[in-house]
Amino acid sequence: MKQYRIPFTGLSLGAHDFEFNIDKAFFDCYDYSIVKDGSLRAGVELLKQENMMIAQFHITGTIMLTCDVCLSSFPANTDITERLIVKFTDEGVAESTEEIVVLAKHEHELDIAGLLYEYINVAVPHYIKCSEQGSNITCDEAVLAKLNDLSPSPQGGEEKQTDPRWDALKKIKYN
Ligand SMILES: [Zn+2]
Repeated sequence: MKQYRIPFTGLSLGAHDFEFNIDKAFFDCYDYSIVKDGSLRAGVELLKQENMMIAQFHITGTIMLTCDVCLSSFPANTDITERLIVKFTDEGVAESTEEIVVLAKHEHELDIAGLLYEYINVAVPHYIKCSEQGSNITCDEAVLAKLNDLSPSPQGGEEKQTDPRWDALKKIKYN
């Protein structure tokens, strides 16, 4: 994951553009990733200022989703913009939040792998359906027919559970 770092020490004040490619190998590094495969490009505009930096992320491409209805995998177009503020401290303890990362003054690069991972996984819709997120595809009719045959009562048995995907994300985020 070493390629997902932005070395900022030598940069002049002002805006600098970086680009990163994200593919299956990236998602393979995260056991709990909801997204297992995809093809994305992340553009990062880093605005370096005297005492802080602002990173503007623009992630575009496709991620592979699995339909909740017919279980087909399909590529879904993704377009994500996020902003991150990077601050510096020379004190020992510093809290990072969702939008603000605090680095020690001696740090010289910004590791964005975890951020990219989080941005992409958070963007995955809760309910996935071929016709909703896919482009010009519909659910696999043969599978739907089979599922219909198998379910005894289509109305009953609705399960309420916490979404395991979010639990997994929460764990990673605060590590
Ligand atoms: Zn489907």
